[in-house]
Amino acid sequence: MKSTLIALARRFHLLAMSRPLPEKIAIYFHAIAPNELGALASCLHHFRSLGYSSTTPDHWHESDGKSLFVSFDDNYHSWLALLPLLQQSGIQATFYVNTLPIADEADPRTITDYFERIEHHGDRQSLSAAEIRQLAQAGHTIACHSHSHKNLNAIPHTEALRDITTAKERLEAIVDHPVQHLSFPFGMRRHFNEKLLQWSLTHGFQSVAYAIPGMQFSKPRPGIIHRTRWHPNHPLEHNIADLRVDGRLFAALTGRSPVG
Ligand SMILES: [Zn+2]
Repeated sequence: MKSTLIALARRFHLLAMSRPLPEKIAIYFHAIAPNELGALASCLHHFRSLGYSSTTPDHWHESDGKSLFVSFDDNYHSWLALLPLLQQSGIQATFYVNTLPIADEADPRTITDYFERIEHHGDRQSLSAAEIRQLAQAGHTIACHSHSHKNLNAIPHTEALRDITTAKERLEAIVDHPVQHLSFPFGMRRHFNEKLLQWSLTHGFQSVAYAIPGMQFSKPRPGIIHRTRWHPNHPLEHNIADLRVDGRLFAALTGRSPVG
């Protein structure tokens, strides 16, 4: 029943709420399996051919013209294999990292539990501190995705703050410079409250990234980046169609994704 409603919502939005691609686009990925590298290459090539150039969270709000913000969430060893492609494609990516499963610090059980919790069933290797540093040294932004990937809106406020702060401090020690951008786990409005948002923007974070589909047309609001997930296992056209959906009203009324 639920999947039927989701399919109906997506069909309605594709028919009635589809707009030309916006000038500023923010997309995100999770892990990229070896057999998905081609799909990532096609995605990046597509935007390049349309005249989009890479932007970072530091420059998101001031960037004008066609800008593409590419980011990755969680903590996957497979990100290392993306470095040559990102370089060839001229993409300065942002990696929002969880610090609990850092490979040379966490025990195997903690790492397995982490991948179970985020329901990742592909390669379950995480990055070591040295490998996170390697991503930064390749010119990419290392950002915070909290320490342990909990629903920060479902735990006590002080615990949520500690989970964010722990990750920020750990990452800053690894990359040796301030970590100023945050994407909170699960990404929907119900997973982060206004109090957490205001605290983050006044405690060392310049931006907070959401992951609500259909929000690429939202009006700029300082400190907020709305990202749409790009599914490498879906056809390019499917992903583009999702990006063209103006789902602001649906997301505001229901708190759910307009495109499934
Ligand atoms: Zn995540």
